[in-house]
Amino acid sequence: MGKNVVVIGSTGSIGRSTLDVIRNNPGRFNVSGLCCFGNIDALIPQIEEFSPGFVSLFSDEFLDRLKYELRRRKLQVKIFCGEKGNIKAASSRSSDIAVIAVVGGIGLEPTLAAVSSGKSVCLANKEALVCGGSIVMARAKKRGVRILPIDSEHSAIFQLLENVPREKLKRIIITASGGPFRNFDSKALAGVGVKEALMHPNWSMGAKITVDSATLMNKGLEVIEAMWLFDLPLEMIDVVVHPQSVIHSMVELSDGAVLAHMGRADMRIPISFALSYPDRLPVDCVEPFDFRKFSRLTFETPDHENFPSLGYACRAAKIGGTMPAAMNAANEVAVNKFLTGEIKFVDIPRVVLKAMRAHEKRLVASPALDDIIAADSASRALAETICRKLGKADKSV
Ligand code: MG
Repeated sequence: MGKNVVVIGSTGSIGRSTLDVIRNNPGRFNVSGLCCFGNIDALIPQIEEFSPGFVSLFSDEFLDRLKYELRRRKLQVKIFCGEKGNIKAASSRSSDIAVIAVVGGIGLEPTLAAVSSGKSVCLANKEALVCGGSIVMARAKKRGVRILPIDSEHSAIFQLLENVPREKLKRIIITASGGPFRNFDSKALAGVGVKEALMHPNWSMGAKITVDSATLMNKGLEVIEAMWLFDLPLEMIDVVVHPQSVIHSMVELSDGAVLAHMGRADMRIPISFALSYPDRLPVDCVEPFDFRKFSRLTFETPDHENFPSLGYACRAAKIGGTMPAAMNAANEVAVNKFLTGEIKFVDIPRVVLKAMRAHEKRLVASPALDDIIAADSASRALAETICRKLGKADKSV
């Protein structure tokens, strides 16, 4: 009997890679449930292949279509719907493991539900910890639930820190590819479009995280994620740009030794680690790593001037409370508006900074879940207004 896995966000990039790992390990895992936003064309073949006990659609707009397609194929599966459906799915008693693979602040509540239900949580959604890290980690501790990171850098650090006593750790060093615009100056950055921003040099990921990688916001979110996952102060976390993405992150110990985690840039490796922990599974679908193909590994300081988002995220982390949630919400709106062509690439950090400044007056230092949700929605509304103004200003030029 294999472990029962519910995949929250099954049609996205991480969700599909998770199902690939499950497909390649027959007998080890069963799919208990699949949840997605509303991509029925992608969901139906997943239901046919993995026969889950239930599915959940975040958007009820696609519910009729799902029911129609299921009827047509004579497929029987329980259906949940909406935000509540996702939470029900995440806390389902028929699952041993929840993989949280949705993108954005939307992942916070299913993450909390999965943790509260006591199952193992494989977390790819970094925003859950960015927005509600204090609540998620406190609940995990109370329930004795281990959160296994899927984010490649955090998976690397998690592995490197195994058997390292806390007092022997000097710092962790998170690597960043630098994204597609690494060597761009401010003039070149001003003209970049959506298509270029979506061309990540090393990793194949969804649109939101790819744009976050291009602005370096992704690294900022990962710094906050690491603070919560590994219980570290901001001062013990360093970021270094490593364009080849061979080293996934490093830890420096008190005797000066630096341990690095290396390998192919393939998300199926950290997914497999999280699903099978503390065991390790053969990942036959991933090509072996060939050092001869990487004759040079290089390292640089992040360009804070042209990519200020990383610094903004660190500032939000320092302020704490509801600030990271407000920062993250503004970023999500700005990235969406960039993807739909309403604002420019360089406007994204501007929106984030403005929203952060506005949130200073409303900051809640030790937030409850409701405070976080309120900060998130207020910041989203404000960011929408800022984006509209920026969009108009653009058109009048
Ligand atoms: Mg990452």
